[in-house]
Amino acid sequence: PLDGQSPPWYPTPKGGTDPSWKDSYAKAAALVRQMTLVEKVNITTGTGWSMQMCVGNTGPVPRLKFPSLCLQDGPLGIRFTDHSTAFPAGITVGATWNKELMYLRGKAHGEEARLKGVNVLLGPAMGPLGRMPAGGRNWEGFGSDPVLQGIAAAATIRGIQSEGVMATAKHYVGNEQEHFRQAWEWGTPNAISSNIDDRTLHEVYAWPFAESVRAGVASVMCSYNQVNNSYACQNSKLMNGILKDELGFQGWVQSDWLAQRSGVASALAGLDVTMPGDGLKWADGKSLWGPQLTRAVLNGSVPMERLNDMATRVVAAWYQLGQDDTSKWPLQPPDGDGGPNFSSWTDEEIGLLHPGSTDKTTGVVNKFVDVQGEGEDFHGNLVRRIAAEGTVLVKNEGNLLPLSRNGRKEGTKRAKGTVFRVGIFGEDARLNRNGINACKDRGCNDGTLASGWGSGAVEFPYLVEPFAVLREAFDNETVTVTDWLENTIPEDKSIMENQDLCIVFANADAGEGYIAWKDIRGDRNDLHLQKNTEALISHVASFCGRGQSPVLVVIHTVGPVLLDPWISHSNIHGILIAHLPGQESGNALVDVVFGDVNPSGKLPYTIAKKEEDYGQGSKVIYLPDLREGLVVQQNFSEPGIFVDYRWFDKEGVEPRCEFGYGLSYTTFALEGLKLDTLGERTMLPKPRPHGVEPPKFDNNMPDKKSALFPGGWKRIEKYIYPWLDSVDDIEPTVATTASASAIPQSPLSPAGGAQGGNPDLYTPLLAVEATVRNMGARDGAAVVQLYIEFPADYRDPETGEKVEFPVRVLRGFDKVQLKKKGEDGDRERVRFEVSRKDLSYWDVRRQNWVLPVSGKFGVMVGFSSRDLPLNGEW
Ligand code: BGC
Ligand code: BGC
Repeated sequence: PLDGQSPPWYPTPKGGTDPSWKDSYAKAAALVRQMTLVEKVNITTGTGWSMQMCVGNTGPVPRLKFPSLCLQDGPLGIRFTDHSTAFPAGITVGATWNKELMYLRGKAHGEEARLKGVNVLLGPAMGPLGRMPAGGRNWEGFGSDPVLQGIAAAATIRGIQSEGVMATAKHYVGNEQEHFRQAWEWGTPNAISSNIDDRTLHEVYAWPFAESVRAGVASVMCSYNQVNNSYACQNSKLMNGILKDELGFQGWVQSDWLAQRSGVASALAGLDVTMPGDGLKWADGKSLWGPQLTRAVLNGSVPMERLNDMATRVVAAWYQLGQDDTSKWPLQPPDGDGGPNFSSWTDEEIGLLHPGSTDKTTGVVNKFVDVQGEGEDFHGNLVRRIAAEGTVLVKNEGNLLPLSRNGRKEGTKRAKGTVFRVGIFGEDARLNRNGINACKDRGCNDGTLASGWGSGAVEFPYLVEPFAVLREAFDNETVTVTDWLENTIPEDKSIMENQDLCIVFANADAGEGYIAWKDIRGDRNDLHLQKNTEALISHVASFCGRGQSPVLVVIHTVGPVLLDPWISHSNIHGILIAHLPGQESGNALVDVVFGDVNPSGKLPYTIAKKEEDYGQGSKVIYLPDLREGLVVQQNFSEPGIFVDYRWFDKEGVEPRCEFGYGLSYTTFALEGLKLDTLGERTMLPKPRPHGVEPPKFDNNMPDKKSALFPGGWKRIEKYIYPWLDSVDDIEPTVATTASASAIPQSPLSPAGGAQGGNPDLYTPLLAVEATVRNMGARDGAAVVQLYIEFPADYRDPETGEKVEFPVRVLRGFDKVQLKKKGEDGDRERVRFEVSRKDLSYWDVRRQNWVLPVSGKFGVMVGFSSRDLPLNGEW
């Protein structure tokens, strides 16, 4: 394909080819065969923005008791609800490197969704992947590496779906920045085009989606942006080709909200559901599908075969997740009292049933169901664990941490009875004085930062203030705590000079592009700490205890922040990056600060010494350059496959803190590397398997009059219905007779054949084992990381061309809890299985994953991307 252009891929592969979905497809086909054309269309089209209770609602088929599905944001909790949990954000979860917590958070989130009547959760997010450190929504995902994103996303999806709720892998794909993601927010003629070459797409951006599909994800959301100058939601190569053929996706593709930009083209390219239903504008009631899709099928522009597949995919996913079980998913009115028990549009009990319309019908819309769990299962406990484990200890000079509650440090001279004085500084230590939910969708940086902003934010049920619990945690007989909970520099220096220890809070916020906070329109403008906190830190560092007392800096952030402006200050002894902790912020912090939890978080991205070190290609485009046409072009050729740490390794740039880095209150050692060959090192995977036959439909065309509005009831203004007012002008002009079979079949991918791709790609070829030991006097958790180095100077055996590889790539990790040195359980053997895909690169010419068969792979095990004590060869 030409650079920056997307090749065609037709027709849409049918769902129902994977054995693990066979029963669901059989049931779905049986139901869809009974549906009329308009009933099928109704399933594919949202009923319109704020026409029902959720941010997205599909049309129902009441006659067959197929419900309207409630789709609700987002990746860290249930948006626009009450009595539900504000979990830590994706970036915090990524920083735990703890697969069990990733799963448990998904499960708790899924349970809350089910109990609120949410069929489809709009998460997890794995795109943006974090190509640009300042990208506004990076915090919704898990970190700037495809393997970390992929493992975290898959675990989250398994968790959510274990509760019977459909998860959504979003945003597919290349939505790496907020600026120009769509046209209407930014005043450009079109959305930005993310120009991603085939290899980079496979090895970086599509990788976590492949893992999500392999985990059985029910839905994928296509993104706002264009990819290679074709809108993601009408890009046939992305949806038909990669997602549905190569990755064997069995669920349904939904558009991001108004990301659909065409009617027929998007249907043929593989879109299955349009959200929120309205077409080119918010809440205008004019859909690109709905009645238009009915018309397009009747006149032959969209084959009936395609419509059958669209509807069947949705219904099959509903069966696959067990949502036909009425004990868990009670029928919707008038047959039952199921459906969502909250309204996204009001906090009152009684409210409008169709707030987006002029219709004034009201009813009970909020039932205030508490879904936060109880007793030991109270989800706040899990939030606290994740937030503590997602906190990264970046610096701990002289073992400043953990602090003791009475201010005395073991082994220090401070006499019994003397008072220890602590000063706490910075607005980020306290709550927003206007209320924790004062800004809509958390769209401001005011008070302590516990979430980014946008559709991925939720209402906090409560927020534990860091300052209050820190003060409480100190022993008030021996410690006095003074506070300056502002970011201005205190004029009275004594507030700093009289302290034995100073704790300064600082933060950096970002979010989705439809909200701007000050001059931050989603993407951050730079990587500095915000709101004057760099100055505050430097100042406190200079004056704390007249320059004699140590300073601890606590940072809440959406992603990497520059530490260099102040890190070398000799009084700054401790730095904690607590990311976006969610509702238990203060408690989690106290757990770490006083050592009840030994920190084990690791950076899920690189912190550079200066912004330029990330490379020009990692910079957000803030100003549209439309000289070359009507579309802002963003070329992913730099950094290409060298995202984040791979760039620093390639360029030989020393980061401030490398990807995977984080300290503990103990130390660990690794030994005993052992490699075992599990499979044969052949260049290509086995041929793709055939899968099962998808269900068959007769694809007959009904009488066009069946699409006419049934009379006898009042239409709700702007509500999107599938019917037409007149069908007189519909002629089957576009070859109905030829139908889908006339479209030439694009070649099937040799990398396909099952969910996630050719199953042989996941065959383990190599086992790596090592022993990790706790060398210190405290229990703690180590994150053991596996990196692979591709054979040096590798050339394609046929063409002789040299293949370029990153210096090393993450391929696995494991978090291990270890007792202190000398106790039973102070060491553990870890084992990784490395798959064929892990050892392959995407070969553009062969359109397959190719495993280098000559030369040696380097195998490295360690504690960060640059601390790799164990080295082997394979
Ligand atoms: C966001 C999606 C979100 C949707 C529904 C969009 O603007 O990009 O992530 O799921 O809105 O709120
Ligand atoms: C909605 C969000 C959506 C955004 C996109 C907002 O008004 O609340 O759900 O993501 O618009 O532009």
